Amino acid sequence: MLISERLANIKPSGVRRIFDLARQMKDPINLSIGEPDFDIPEPLKEEGIAWIRKGFNKYTPTQGIPELREKIADHLKKKGIHFEEVMVTAGVTGGLLLASLALINPGDEVIIPDPFFVMYEYQILLMGGTPVFADTYPDFRLREEEFAKKLTRRTKFIIINSPNNPTGAVYPKEDLMMVVRLARKRDLLILSDDIYDNFVFDEPACPCMGQLYEKTITFGGFSKGWAMTGWRLGYVAGPREIVQQMITLQQYTFSSVNSFAQKAATKALDFNVDDYIEGYRRKRDIVYEGLKEKFNVQKPRGAFYIFPEVPGGNGEAFVERAIQNNVFVVPGSVFSKRNTNIRISFAAPDEKLFKGIEILNRIA
Ligand code: PLP
Repeated sequence: MLISERLANIKPSGVRRIFDLARQMKDPINLSIGEPDFDIPEPLKEEGIAWIRKGFNKYTPTQGIPELREKIADHLKKKGIHFEEVMVTAGVTGGLLLASLALINPGDEVIIPDPFFVMYEYQILLMGGTPVFADTYPDFRLREEEFAKKLTRRTKFIIINSPNNPTGAVYPKEDLMMVVRLARKRDLLILSDDIYDNFVFDEPACPCMGQLYEKTITFGGFSKGWAMTGWRLGYVAGPREIVQQMITLQQYTFSSVNSFAQKAATKALDFNVDDYIEGYRRKRDIVYEGLKEKFNVQKPRGAFYIFPEVPGGNGEAFVERAIQNNVFVVPGSVFSKRNTNIRISFAAPDEKLFKGIEILNRIA
């Protein structure tokens, strides 16, 4: 057998047919994209270019360049996040992979609130672990009885992602505190994916797990807030014992991460993106107001996604009809064990949003 047993549980997406259909679309209204629709702010691009020109193009220290690690540490301290060690990673994706490698033994269980970012499920499966889903429908809140039901002796950690992809939910502090109480009782780790922490619309900042619980590993990045998705840069901060192991693993896997992007990112943490966020708050209002009559929908409080339930309750069938009408959105089943919703990204120009809403309402 050519392919490793490790991949036995890694199957192509069940909705590949829908993505095949989408690929045939000509000039679609594409509301499926998981990245900002603005480019990296000009001064940060110039910073990256300047360091390329200066010849800063070689390997960098495995754990990241010192000035960026310091900057990240200052940033997290200001936010009141608990951590002992910081490392720079190849996006949050790279950080999550190192954490999975460092923490999961075959048979370990990991609790993930559903809906969830797809990568968690597959990285856990890749390590031989078992993802266990805690349902958060219909209002995308974390509920004690649901979590208590899912905790077992095999539970290794809990993953929290707030602001959330795909729902746009920002979990209230009381929900996070409930999870902390359960985790503390069993001395469990919590992994907190804070990649959308810049995108918060109705309050100055969102509560983060890392502020509330010492045994949190915080993941953050530059892909969303500063639109650097292609530059592949993120960070991990948490207990020293674990982050040190992840640095060792990085040495033998990624070696080090993008050189010039680290220099630009050192400036990014001081680069104010409030105007962009305000633009996205406005887009959130356009989409929510546009859909709320015909769809059962929660108002997103962060990120740049909205996750309405479709009339009739069949997300995949609804998406097929949307594609036939030239709108591309993603079925909720990609992010969930349920197929009742769709994910719409509002990281798109206003005219596409208006047109897309009109068509989706017509289908509904
Ligand atoms: N975590 C979440 C919740 C995401 O939505 C994404 C990207 O869509 C990532 C992590 C990946 O981020 P990065 O580009 O830093 O690897």
